[in-house]
Amino acid sequence: MVNAAASDGQTPPVVTRFAPSPTGFLHIGSARTALFNWLYARGRGGRFLLRIEDTDLARSTPEATEAILSGLTWLGLDWDGEAVSQADRAPRHAEIARQMVESGTAYKCFATREEIEAAREAARAQGRSTLFRSPWRDADPASHPDAPYAIRVRAPLEGETVIEDTVQGRVSIRNDQLDDMIVLRSDGTPTYMLAVVVDDHDMGVTHVIRGDDHLNNAARQGLIYAAMGWDQPAMAHIPLIHGEDGKKLSKRHGALGVAEYVAMGYPAAAMRNYLARLGWSHGDDEVFSTGQALEWFDTDGIGKSPARLDFKKLDHVSGQHIASMETDDLLDAIDAWRDAADLAPLTRAERDALAPALPLVRSGARRLPDLLDRAHFAMVSRPVEVDPKAAKALDPAAMDLLADLTPQLRNASWERDTLESVAGAIAASRGIGLGKIAGPMRAALAGRTATPSVFDMMMVLGRNETLARIDDAMKTGPLRPGAA
Ligand code: GLU
Repeated sequence: MVNAAASDGQTPPVVTRFAPSPTGFLHIGSARTALFNWLYARGRGGRFLLRIEDTDLARSTPEATEAILSGLTWLGLDWDGEAVSQADRAPRHAEIARQMVESGTAYKCFATREEIEAAREAARAQGRSTLFRSPWRDADPASHPDAPYAIRVRAPLEGETVIEDTVQGRVSIRNDQLDDMIVLRSDGTPTYMLAVVVDDHDMGVTHVIRGDDHLNNAARQGLIYAAMGWDQPAMAHIPLIHGEDGKKLSKRHGALGVAEYVAMGYPAAAMRNYLARLGWSHGDDEVFSTGQALEWFDTDGIGKSPARLDFKKLDHVSGQHIASMETDDLLDAIDAWRDAADLAPLTRAERDALAPALPLVRSGARRLPDLLDRAHFAMVSRPVEVDPKAAKALDPAAMDLLADLTPQLRNASWERDTLESVAGAIAASRGIGLGKIAGPMRAALAGRTATPSVFDMMMVLGRNETLARIDDAMKTGPLRPGAA
């Protein structure tokens, strides 16, 4: 329905934005906010904008901006146009503050910090509300001194300010609990409240989806919209993410920064899926593609209670994506992980070696490093280095077995079933279990004890490589761990 509305030319297209403050890394909760905004806009043919809220010059750093951009890029959340710097727009914010003064919806306040503090003290002493009521609100401009001033919104004194929030419902705040907040400081710099409203307006933002820690700000920002006669965007304030214990997410719950998730080896597609489910649901669907999320995402599905970060679930979702991703996408995801882990990208030869192995070894892998570990046998070249534990399986009896097996493998048709029956027949003829064959084969083919199924490895390696690796193991002869 919304899609139709967006394309019929009647309803303005959806514009959302992500507005992080660049003071650290890309927090996992912020990444989820970005994802929700991206899904909402992109699922409706709309625009997703990025605004870096860098007005706090003391705390904002270019490195933090870079971390945000690279986190979003990794997650595949592309934004339209250039990222907007809020600090660059300060002259425009000031211009709006002055317009508000001209229209009478804001006024110049010459109260000094000391006077404001003294007024608050007095109110406290008398048990009155400590909201500052500026004496300049109704002062005759003719009485204005030639002194620095701040610009304050002339907030209504009665009634209430209401926010119809898509997630939180109707939220109202009594106007007598809102002060005449400052929009432009006496040093000429805009306040955060003003900057957000002016930027959202100028950027044409139609929907604001953000953490519910901004719910109170929404009421105050509503005053500025009203003062300017601007339409307020639709609001959806989402509950913040909690840790597994239900407490506000913090360092002790585990990784907070997106970069840490990249380094742990979660594919971006899995992360998008998992983050989408953190606080939003579509029936019982747990594992889905980004295409499905784009189709399904709506603010109606956002829950009112905080979602809990659950690494077991994340691992599960990640494993499901690894099990079903296209091989090329998996290889790209592996490279993104290697980059985060300071490893060189896969070479062409490694990609070629991995490509046939991945479909056979991926089931059960939770993260990309597990997957690579399972595919280790495909990446090593001859002669395969045999680790000491695996070497124990290459005893004299194993040599004999491998010698028996070799001609049979040379003549067998190279199909999994046939290979299994060849090995099964040899085991039966010797009255041993298949496991007795698997041990030496794992050692010969992978040099390890923990490997994918021997038959899967043989299928990936092919006849020549399999026989060559067995031959290498036989040439080396029984390995005696510990012997030089
Ligand atoms: N810069 C704010 C933050 O990082 C977000 C402001 C907003 O979304 O309106 O929390």
